[in-house]
Amino acid sequence: MALRIIGISDEVTTCECCGRTNLKKTVVLTDGEGEKRYGSECAAKAMRKSGDKFASKAWVEKVSREIARRPNAPARDSFGVLNVATGRVVTTCSTREIAEQAVASRGSGYEVVGV
Ligand SMILES: [Zn+2]
Repeated sequence: MALRIIGISDEVTTCECCGRTNLKKTVVLTDGEGEKRYGSECAAKAMRKSGDKFASKAWVEKVSREIARRPNAPARDSFGVLNVATGRVVTTCSTREIAEQAVASRGSGYEVVGV
């Protein structure tokens, strides 16, 4: 199952992935069974490996902050439609599916990015 970000921990400051210590915070991820606490860089890597190919360190930090602020609300507008030629995000969407539909309706020259 794909990994999901479910929060931030400032109690656990050691990345369970690479063992790095003294992190400010760790990102809490779940694969639907257990929880993992990873630094944002390892979290992004793990999410990319599990199929979230747009997950970047900055995106992981943004989404986990958002979730920490509003624990019961889904992260909003985490995806964007990028105009590849201009490098600008033309619209943002709450889910990847919506962003993918927006990309598909625009045709070539656009791609889904994490924002
Ligand atoms: Zn790590």
